[in-house]
Amino acid sequence: MLDDHLRPVLDDVIARNRHEPEFHQAAREVFESIAPAIKRRPEYLDAGVVQRMCEPERQLIFRVPWTDDGGRVHVNRGFRVEFNSALGPYKGGLRFHPSVYLGIVKFLGFEQIFKNALTGLPIGGGKGGSDFDPKGRSDAEVMRFCQSFMTELARHIGEYTDVPAGDIGVGGREIGYMFGQYKRITNRYEAGVITGKGLTWGGSHARTEATGYGLIFFVREMLRAAGQDLDGRRVVVSGSGNVAQYATEKLQALGATVVAVSDSSGYVVDEAGIDLPLLQEIKEVRRGRISEYAEERGGSVRFVSEGSIWDVPCDIALPCATQNELDAVAARRLITNGTMLVAEGANMPCTPEAVDALTEAGVAFAPGKAANAGGVATSALEMQQNAERDSWSFGYTEQRLEEIMQGVHHRCVVTADDYDRPGDLVTGANISGFIRVADTMLDLGVI
Ligand code: GLU
Repeated sequence: MLDDHLRPVLDDVIARNRHEPEFHQAAREVFESIAPAIKRRPEYLDAGVVQRMCEPERQLIFRVPWTDDGGRVHVNRGFRVEFNSALGPYKGGLRFHPSVYLGIVKFLGFEQIFKNALTGLPIGGGKGGSDFDPKGRSDAEVMRFCQSFMTELARHIGEYTDVPAGDIGVGGREIGYMFGQYKRITNRYEAGVITGKGLTWGGSHARTEATGYGLIFFVREMLRAAGQDLDGRRVVVSGSGNVAQYATEKLQALGATVVAVSDSSGYVVDEAGIDLPLLQEIKEVRRGRISEYAEERGGSVRFVSEGSIWDVPCDIALPCATQNELDAVAARRLITNGTMLVAEGANMPCTPEAVDALTEAGVAFAPGKAANAGGVATSALEMQQNAERDSWSFGYTEQRLEEIMQGVHHRCVVTADDYDRPGDLVTGANISGFIRVADTMLDLGVI
């Protein structure tokens, strides 16, 4: 329920950001949680903190022209929303996907503010991307696109200003092409200007694995708190990209069985447990479709192109694909099938109706801004290593990631308790992240 004091602020967000439903959804979701924090400290509204938080500090939209292999010129649109720099330089990924428009970038940037705050690390919130579709494009085309994108973005970013990274459609290959272009344009080896880099050019160990591993560390903390563990659990993971792959790897290492993964063309069910090397060969090397997994694995493995991956019975469901992929119908199916825990590996993958249904039915639920914070947290560790011109071991970096995820979980739990909502990780995450940013904004004056 929306508090009477916050309703006009949300109305204003909606009026000023028309036709951006994902941004409205993300703002409403935070507003529904933070009323008790505002009751304790009315300055958050009186000093315009909430109102300022909803308006990005800067929004960039730019032309990205590039030439395909046949010599044809294409024009895409590039975005960078520098949302909030109270806690540190703007930090957040770049998404290359045809669905990207300003509203998607704003919803992601808004979420990023609170997620980054929850990690306890000194990073502000931002997000960017393009409506460019990398699917079916050659390496050379992707490179030319990335170079063109960075030719404009370069003038806006910097180690102390704004530090992009990857997201959907942007992995190590794209970060490499963008960093290469940045280095060429500026004639400076500023490793700290972007994260998700390769290990020989300023990258961090465990960054590739971080979002997936972090998600499982978070889930393990949730189970621990209930006196349970992952051993023997049946898990469904949607998606088959970076987050899904490394969540699957960590789950398998901890004794769970991942029985289904998906992509935009459908899902596969493999009762013996997903063969991760095969999945990675198809997705990372061949950049192919998930149906190839079923064809090659054979046996009783099924590829399903119609319907929903959430029909597959499981103890734990981890939506790791994209926003609003798990709706109320899917949530009810999970409840009927006895799912005990849902944790968001993607950003806002559950609709508000799905979250309500799950929590009302007593399913343990972790919001993305807490559960998937491991990626950006390890980006902050990459920035630390760049600043000290050092490179930490895999083991040490993973240990830091695990401690950070335990810290995120702890902050959510303690804050939920403090506000009389024990076990409500949504309230815990939203209030905890909000207070850290809001108190800082009060300290810094009206800027
Ligand atoms: N795109 C990731 C996220 O949604 C990572 C961002 C980063 O590393 O800056 O949090």
